[in-house]
Amino acid sequence: MHHFEYRGGVLHAEDVSLETIAADVGTPFYCYSEATIRRHIRVFQAAFKGCDTLIAYSVKANPNISVIKVLASEGAGADVVSGGELKRARAAGIPASKIVFSGVGKTREEMAFALSEGIHQFNVESEPELDALNEVAVSKGAKAPIAFRVNPDVKAGGHEKISTGKKEDKFGVAWDRARDLYARARALPGIEVKGVDVHIGSQIAELAPFEAAFNRVADLVAALRADGCTIERVDLGGGLGISYGETGVEPPHPDEYAGLIKRIAAPLGVQLIFEPGRMIVGNAGVLVSRVIYDKEGSARRFLIIDAAMNDLIRPALYDAHHTVIPVDEAEADASKVAYDVVGPVCESSDRFGRDRALPALAPGKLIALLTAGAYGASQASQYNTRPLIPEVLVNGARYAVIRRRPTFEEMTALEEKPDWL
Ligand SMILES: *Cc1c(COP(=O)(O)O)cnc(C)c1O
Repeated sequence: MHHFEYRGGVLHAEDVSLETIAADVGTPFYCYSEATIRRHIRVFQAAFKGCDTLIAYSVKANPNISVIKVLASEGAGADVVSGGELKRARAAGIPASKIVFSGVGKTREEMAFALSEGIHQFNVESEPELDALNEVAVSKGAKAPIAFRVNPDVKAGGHEKISTGKKEDKFGVAWDRARDLYARARALPGIEVKGVDVHIGSQIAELAPFEAAFNRVADLVAALRADGCTIERVDLGGGLGISYGETGVEPPHPDEYAGLIKRIAAPLGVQLIFEPGRMIVGNAGVLVSRVIYDKEGSARRFLIIDAAMNDLIRPALYDAHHTVIPVDEAEADASKVAYDVVGPVCESSDRFGRDRALPALAPGKLIALLTAGAYGASQASQYNTRPLIPEVLVNGARYAVIRRRPTFEEMTALEEKPDWL
């Protein structure tokens, strides 16, 4: 469910016309619906009503501080993967006690910072990381609360590049080493073992891989308890997929996902931590772009738009599908031609879609790429010296630019000429 629909013939975000925003901020831009973000976090919370949960929004999906602020106001925590994301979560008002820190390469500086903030949990992904964290904590006279992220060797996720829970992947500690590692961790003076963590991938559209992974976690918790280890939390990660429209992939509803967890993990009597990202913000954003040219190539017809792979890299990076629709509904109803929708960047992978059935669109027309709220702006770059595009948040009939477009001077401000040039 989202709040982007045609009204009076024009695509709107809640009560605001995307034509109005385009005229105001210029194209391309990201537009987010606050009501949609709130709706998604509430659906997730409602699914686990009555359970002891911490819903730690995965900041990397969309790290804009205003987006995090919306979620903070709904009571969400945060899952961060860098010191920078931790600062964002704190700046948005998320208490440290609701923050978990994931990632395979936490530096000692990041660990020291997170310890001084007093975060809820470090999700530790290797033995060297455990030793580093122990040393940092001891030097500060602190104890670091940890869970090991275990690698359950389960294949999951919408694409090979977003699968994280197979034994070949860089993530987590090896399944058969887990008990030994817990025994080691318990003996370290700077470490306090709190729980078990797992995150198997992203855009997961079936329950089966979750079920396999969570069953393994439940078995591990039982084994660890038998070893005399106190396990009071289980972090089940994120990864629940969403519908990208035309692909026909329909992931399970959060209620079905919750049903599985209530069966497998709730009986463990632990705090359940979740790290949803995509399912909270994915459908809450669109990328609005203007047609530059309608180009007849020798073999294909190209719709060249002013957004490019540097603004939204998902199609180039993992063959992701974003539905493209015209902002003007009259065009949505017109007869269709087959376009390859491409951007201006000098790479052949700068393509949003092949053979898309769209009306013939003249230069200047607006289109929207749907379901662009997650891993869109957050993965953008300034490749080809294209400025980062604005992000706009809509709330009912209001909207605000929550990140503006930088000027050329701002884009180059960090560069310095050496004195011999
Ligand atoms: C990316 C990530 C998430 C969020 O994944 P989604 O598919 O967006 O829900 C959660 N936890 C960890 C450790 C991650 O790396």
